[in-house]
Amino acid sequence: MRTQIVAGNWKMNNDKDATKSLVKDIKKNIKSLDLVNTRVIIAPTFVNLPLAVKKAKKSKIEVAAQNMHQAESGAYTGEVSAKMLQSVGVKTVILGHSERRTYFNETDQILAEKVTAALKNELEVIFCFGELLNDRKSNTHFEVVENQLKNGLFHLPAEEFSNIILAYEPVWAIGTGETATPEQAQEMHAFIRSLLVKQYNNKVADNMSILYGGSVKPANAKEIFSKPDVDGGLIGGASLQADDFTAIIKS
Ligand code: PEP
Repeated sequence: MRTQIVAGNWKMNNDKDATKSLVKDIKKNIKSLDLVNTRVIIAPTFVNLPLAVKKAKKSKIEVAAQNMHQAESGAYTGEVSAKMLQSVGVKTVILGHSERRTYFNETDQILAEKVTAALKNELEVIFCFGELLNDRKSNTHFEVVENQLKNGLFHLPAEEFSNIILAYEPVWAIGTGETATPEQAQEMHAFIRSLLVKQYNNKVADNMSILYGGSVKPANAKEIFSKPDVDGGLIGGASLQADDFTAIIKS
């Protein structure tokens, strides 16, 4: 059975105190839940990662970073390396979020380098990708997604895929309140899994957790997560409220 994952991307939200209290509240909320085969991940901003790691100790909460630089070290002002994340107890990094692609010009090529650097440093990667509204309108969304996977990930050998989590996030559904229908999500997730069979093998495809992201809320999570190829979600806005995030985890 594939691992179910709910990951919260906090983006540029929550200062030190807010981080402390949100971790505390989520920890309290999920303490009594039977989370067999389910992982809970939160991704606070860089400066609060050590605090979140400390506060999440002895709980089911895992802490991820929202980004990293592809170089090992050096003259890259303002950047953070994979080794630095490792050194503060972070084991997972989100790469390729649409906001990084759009606002920070992260190309497939740069993302491929980041993925390689993360895996080399034993970080697990949540790899985000997804089409723009225009791509869907022009019916090129499958092609766009295929190219993002080909260019950003398919340089990896099959054995490295156990350290990848895929997050399909149609850009038109991120932070817009507009969600892909459960059928649209299932259709794309099944397509993604078929690409993994073609590129690698059935085992890689069967074992891959493919998360859906884009305006997931307590009200729609259950229906989306009930689809056979949807293995959880990457949550933005609703991950900032402990009760909403908990309701999504329960879904
Ligand atoms: C995201 O940013 O990855 C995301 C899915 O955001 P939201 O849930 O707010 O749409």
